[in-house]
Amino acid sequence: MRRIRARVEGTVQGVGFRPFVYRLASELDLAGFVLNDERGVLLEVEGRESAVDGFLRRLGEEAPPLAAIEAVRPQDVAPAGERGFRILASPRGGEPAALVSPDTATCEDCLAELFDPSDRRYRYPFVNCTNCGPRFTIVRGVPYDRPLTTMAEFELCPRCAAEYEDPADRRFHAQPNACPECGPTLRLLPGDDYGDEALRGAVAALREERIVAVKGIGGYHLACLAASEPAVAALRARKHREDRPFAVMVRNAAAARALVALTGEEAALLAGRDSPIVLAPRLADAPVAPSVAPRSADLGVLLPYSPLHHLLLAEVGEPLVMTSGNVADEPIAHEDADALERLAGIADLVLFHDRPIHTRTDDSVLRAVPGRRPLLMRRSRGFVPDSLALPVPARRDVLACGAELKSTFCVAKGARAWVGHHIGDLKTFEVLQAFEAGIEHFERLFAVVPEVVVHDEHPDYLSTRYALAREGVEAVAVQHHHAHLAACLAEHGETGPAVGAIYDGTGYGSDGTVWGGELLVGDLVDFERAGHLWPVRLPGGDRAVRQPWRMACAWLLEAGWEGPLPGPDPRRSEQVAELVRSGLSSPLTTSMGRLFDAVAALCGLRDEVTYEGQAAVELEAAVDPWERGRYELPVTAAGVLDARPAVLAVARDVAAGAPPGAVSARFHAAVAAATAEAVSRIGLGTVVLSGGVFQNRTLLAATAGALEARGRRVLVPERLPPNDGGVSYGQAAVAAARGEERR
Ligand SMILES: [Zn+2]
Ligand SMILES: [Zn+2]
Ligand SMILES: [Zn+2]
Repeated sequence: MRRIRARVEGTVQGVGFRPFVYRLASELDLAGFVLNDERGVLLEVEGRESAVDGFLRRLGEEAPPLAAIEAVRPQDVAPAGERGFRILASPRGGEPAALVSPDTATCEDCLAELFDPSDRRYRYPFVNCTNCGPRFTIVRGVPYDRPLTTMAEFELCPRCAAEYEDPADRRFHAQPNACPECGPTLRLLPGDDYGDEALRGAVAALREERIVAVKGIGGYHLACLAASEPAVAALRARKHREDRPFAVMVRNAAAARALVALTGEEAALLAGRDSPIVLAPRLADAPVAPSVAPRSADLGVLLPYSPLHHLLLAEVGEPLVMTSGNVADEPIAHEDADALERLAGIADLVLFHDRPIHTRTDDSVLRAVPGRRPLLMRRSRGFVPDSLALPVPARRDVLACGAELKSTFCVAKGARAWVGHHIGDLKTFEVLQAFEAGIEHFERLFAVVPEVVVHDEHPDYLSTRYALAREGVEAVAVQHHHAHLAACLAEHGETGPAVGAIYDGTGYGSDGTVWGGELLVGDLVDFERAGHLWPVRLPGGDRAVRQPWRMACAWLLEAGWEGPLPGPDPRRSEQVAELVRSGLSSPLTTSMGRLFDAVAALCGLRDEVTYEGQAAVELEAAVDPWERGRYELPVTAAGVLDARPAVLAVARDVAAGAPPGAVSARFHAAVAAATAEAVSRIGLGTVVLSGGVFQNRTLLAATAGALEARGRRVLVPERLPPNDGGVSYGQAAVAAARGEERR
């Protein structure tokens, strides 16, 4: 007879772990108990030696799908002669933060019920269980228990309550448990169709090429037939979203392969329980309307992740555009009155349901990179609020406020950091509200009481102003590109030092100029600038971001070009040239993103953009994969990447009629080679590649490949985006490391 006590750490609460332990112990005829406490799961089992050994082995091997065990620490204790196995209530103060897990795609068991005519949940769009369903988006507070979710107003019927109470049931303590008797109901608006009638009405409308807003897990989608050009073009026109690609939802991986080229690994990501949008190269004959993703070489595809999606896709029978239900840059609609008002001008019908969404989350986005791990471009539904470790624990609770575009925030306590959902561009009032509400929510969920509040050095970012307005805390400023470097080091569990090539659109530099093509040497505490892109003027400031032809003028003048300048007309080109020469409202910048914009404009690809980075995306899309040439892009003795000869070569090639694909390929190769050369001159083994420009997989693969060929170890962001979505976590890692250093 042997008895052990074991502590299990990791994501083990709210994921069906206790019932799993109960079933396993019962099967092996072991006595004892299991309970949740503030550190995870505590259990004791007693029985035959071999049964106890078997229990410990199978505990890890057969854990429920949503559990992530980080450590099991068993110790022998005296046998108690106990009989039977029990799930015990948590001690007071237990069941804290750790219970809130991300929203999870519908599991196989629930899907089987959804399509089984003999099941009581047949065609019920809100079927879920302990292994799947909404989580983070419905949580109003902690502890994670039904009364503190948006399911509070739905009283469990006797059959659902019995499932909820039965440790042997798949729905034991599944907080969103529901059935047609007691749970949420669909409704089609305008009109009086509920339940299955509502669903059938929406399906019919979609088939008639109409636009239907669909209330989902983290907000509303706008849906229409992906193959119908009239429907997609109408959606684009009504949404005022001129060029940004729409994602397409397909029924399964096989249907995805009819649209995009997917490796096995990418197909697995698509079908993962976090169910992201996967950006992959579109097939030439993909049957989608041209307006779905104009001028994009990639197409974003995703699989159904809620039962409602599964029903819609099964009945419509073909791929659907599923794009977030917002107008241009507003946050995704999620509150019903608000959503109905805002969507009225876009959608013909709204497929509504009465389960409230507490926290909006967008779909997360991954981009496949050949031969490397995929890039996470947007981290939101399915990933949030999973925690990340901090390599240097925070001695005091931290709030990091991030940047401004693609903003996220991060709270940290000890060695754990929680990065919030993607919030978006903080410049609009609604987005700023979502940012502040999100911070409050996370502080409550994870019991973080910030004593240190971290912000970007940019004085005008609204996130900086928010940080500086918090009272009774220590404010810490972290340079933007240092935060990028630190984020990548920290997610890999490292503290540096390393060389970082941090390429992005814009970041406030320590010298007051606009940085964005930076070679930094640093660790989590501090950094030095070891090199950068050749500085040029940003003619007209923000206008140069929206109008890449201005950057083309700036670079050509810097390079000594004597031919005609680009621009809508010679008069405006001359005005911009005057700005460049005088420096009036034209700060100096080393932005790599703006260099890509300039080259895109020179190639004739795009003079104006409707979203940040658009010109660079289209420049990458144009790359001719068979081109082997490369422009000259020397690195000076001071570590400056002198792109002037490359820009002149681009202009000459374009003037001589060279195809944009060849020019783009030669330019990408030049930047990759120059980066590898500049980094190699700095004598450290580990290299970090990050910043929004490295969402460009052609550049990323070429630069990383060149560095690895020179024997360097290359770290790339994997769990957070390389863009500004990762900045808040980097800020938190820096603040924690500085706090430790000052002890
Ligand atoms: Zn399930
Ligand atoms: Zn029920
Ligand atoms: Zn940045």
